[in-house]
Amino acid sequence: MQRPSLPCPFEKVFPSQLQRDDEFHMWLAYNQAIDAWKQDEVPVGAVITLGGEVIAAAHNQRDSTRDPTAHAEILALGQAAKAIGDWRLNDATLYVTKEPCPMCSGATLMARLKRVVYAVSDPKMGCLGGATDLNALPRSNHRLELTRGVLEQPCHELLRAYFQLKRQEE
Ligand SMILES: [Zn+2]
Repeated sequence: MQRPSLPCPFEKVFPSQLQRDDEFHMWLAYNQAIDAWKQDEVPVGAVITLGGEVIAAAHNQRDSTRDPTAHAEILALGQAAKAIGDWRLNDATLYVTKEPCPMCSGATLMARLKRVVYAVSDPKMGCLGGATDLNALPRSNHRLELTRGVLEQPCHELLRAYFQLKRQEE
């Protein structure tokens, strides 16, 4: 069955290429989230960088693929591993518009990512500090560097507006 799509009232943002900082990369993840919305998926986007270069970009595809694991982070991790030919992503950074869920938080640890940057905390299902913190497992020998709240406002607004429209539609 074709799912009805909600027109996305948000535009992509194209930040200056001159300063490739956390905000720059989070805007790229934000643009991925907009692509998700345009496919009537919950708007979450992810980007992975290595040495300042983007090696993966993906958005949530759970509904279109009917795959419960097709979250933005999982798809991006797969792309990144393929790009470098190694499952170990020790020096890579993941940018994601929403705090990773239990599955994706676990995947970031299993990929041995160096760093995770997320925009919006998730007190319900976030497992990098929001609901619980898998990065603090006492016997784990891997620790991520974490940065929270980068572009929190626009990423939160995108999710809020999507769910609001979704509720109206039902
Ligand atoms: Zn997830």
